[in-house]
Amino acid sequence: MMAMELFQQKCGGFFGSLWPAEEKVLVFGEGRWDHPPVMLIGEAPGEQETLQRRPFVGKAGKNLDGFLQAVELKREDIYISNVVKVRPVKISAKGTVSNRPPNREELLLFTPYLYEEILLVQPKMIVTLGNTALRAVMGPDAVIGACHGENQQAGVSFENRHQVFDVFPLYHPASIIYNRSLQSVYEDDLRRLKAVLDAAGR
Ligand code: URA
Repeated sequence: MMAMELFQQKCGGFFGSLWPAEEKVLVFGEGRWDHPPVMLIGEAPGEQETLQRRPFVGKAGKNLDGFLQAVELKREDIYISNVVKVRPVKISAKGTVSNRPPNREELLLFTPYLYEEILLVQPKMIVTLGNTALRAVMGPDAVIGACHGENQQAGVSFENRHQVFDVFPLYHPASIIYNRSLQSVYEDDLRRLKAVLDAAGR
């Protein structure tokens, strides 16, 4: 069995036994996992992602197309994943289901799997989208406003393995929808990322 299949089976087994009655759908990463130029890390799957069992296919997927165009990469050339592999939801008094940010427990449970995944994929560059992904790789004190658009480094450890990766933090595309003033900042960051990727020969 391929290493990625083994990883998914292990992760699925753990969460399947942790939350047996709840039938939470796991949405794993997809794309190239053989040393791709970029591993893109989002927060967690949403409704569409859970229905299709693929990351970044809902509204966020459209934003992703803009990202890919700007840095001149194709979806199939990179690896796309999320910190948390289940859709975090809240249910209103009326029974309406909506997204919520991942909670502490979900982050604690999924982060070691993210590290294992990063070490398996061996990306040349990690691109984090938003604060959740940023903190998962850079530690809890990292702030997107202070380090977006600048190349960073992060140590990733799993079991007895430890490796330093280049990390390029971006705002989450969804945050730009709510805060229009970030649009030009985000576009500028994408141009910087493209320059870094070009300089590295991808
Ligand atoms: N869809 C994803 O897969 N991840 C996000 O972070 C947002 C939407």
